[in-house]
Amino acid sequence: METQHPPIYVTQPSLPPLEEFTPYLKQIWESKTLTNGGPFHQELERALCKHLGVKHLALFTNATIALVTALQALRISGEVITTPYSFVATAHSLLWNGIKPVFVDVDPNTLNLDPSKIEAAITSHTTAIMPVHVYGHPCDVEAIQKIADRYNLKVIYDAAHAFGVQREDGSVLNHGDLSILSFHATKVFNTFEGGAIICRDAKTKNHIDHLKNFGFVDEVTVVAAGINGKMSEVNAAFGMLQLKHIENSILLRKGIDANYRRQLNEVKGIRCLNLSGETIANYGYFPILIEAEYSLSRDQLYEKMRENNIYARRYFYPLISDYPMYRDLPSAQRSSLPVAVRASEQVLCLPIYPALQQFEQQRVIDLIRSI
Ligand SMILES: *Cc1c(COP(=O)(O)O)cnc(C)c1O
Repeated sequence: METQHPPIYVTQPSLPPLEEFTPYLKQIWESKTLTNGGPFHQELERALCKHLGVKHLALFTNATIALVTALQALRISGEVITTPYSFVATAHSLLWNGIKPVFVDVDPNTLNLDPSKIEAAITSHTTAIMPVHVYGHPCDVEAIQKIADRYNLKVIYDAAHAFGVQREDGSVLNHGDLSILSFHATKVFNTFEGGAIICRDAKTKNHIDHLKNFGFVDEVTVVAAGINGKMSEVNAAFGMLQLKHIENSILLRKGIDANYRRQLNEVKGIRCLNLSGETIANYGYFPILIEAEYSLSRDQLYEKMRENNIYARRYFYPLISDYPMYRDLPSAQRSSLPVAVRASEQVLCLPIYPALQQFEQQRVIDLIRSI
């Protein structure tokens, strides 16, 4: 029998040394402010605005509640055009608001919503577009905005993967009406659980702040049927600590990304997804597409890796539109989503995280090359 190597997962949360977190906890114990927009919450909102280059940011308990609240904040109803190629929370946030998702196919190069296919899906009930910057690769924000302007639609970006991603014109989070980040443990920047809504003006930020706190404006005034979406002080404090390490984390990820590209580019049948040259990336994911010229199918390679204790992930398979609560929608037909269907059958996300050791990454690469 082969010697079994220790497991390698697709990601591993970034955790600074525990000692670095204790002073933060001490501060919370001393202030006895555990939540409700305490000092760390306020500090992290300011620090993230500065770090990301955005005007207003409201912290949330997680990105899913932030997505649900974002739709409430803009009073979105009826139908929303979205992508089937994402994490299931994107479409779930629509269902939780009684909105009908309308799935539109993705672009073969970016795997993001294909703007050229949006217009055909617009009806008199369409009120918004909810695209996703998949793997942190920016959507075609100009083309999407043009369509939104022409049809008077809102644009809400699920930017769960796009922490720190910049285009030539600055943060990608400044596009659309609202953008939503996730700070879940598996994401590039994590607060254990967490998320945020990015918006452009103080009035909207104020409204979102009310919505995430049951609709309270003051002790006796409730202006909306809000929810409890507040981030706690422990999570916010952890975010402050993470922020100190984020630049280094992303640099380590960048090195891993470059090494994969260098060593996998020559492998027949393996295609790495490329970013446009001007993008400053966060290297949160390393997706490869297993094409026909490779000697195994994607699922065969996935299984082969598992046998070798390497846990790559098939993000995103199945497509959202194939889950039982969506598959009967007219827009969920696989025949109208050929690019997304193909991608979901070909893509494999390889391990990438700051603590991934070079010999571990080499084990992943050697396995793919040995077949
Ligand atoms: C992680 C993720 C979410 C959900 O984020 P949570 O913070 O776990 O609620 C939503 N959309 C996408 C695309 C994601 O990857």
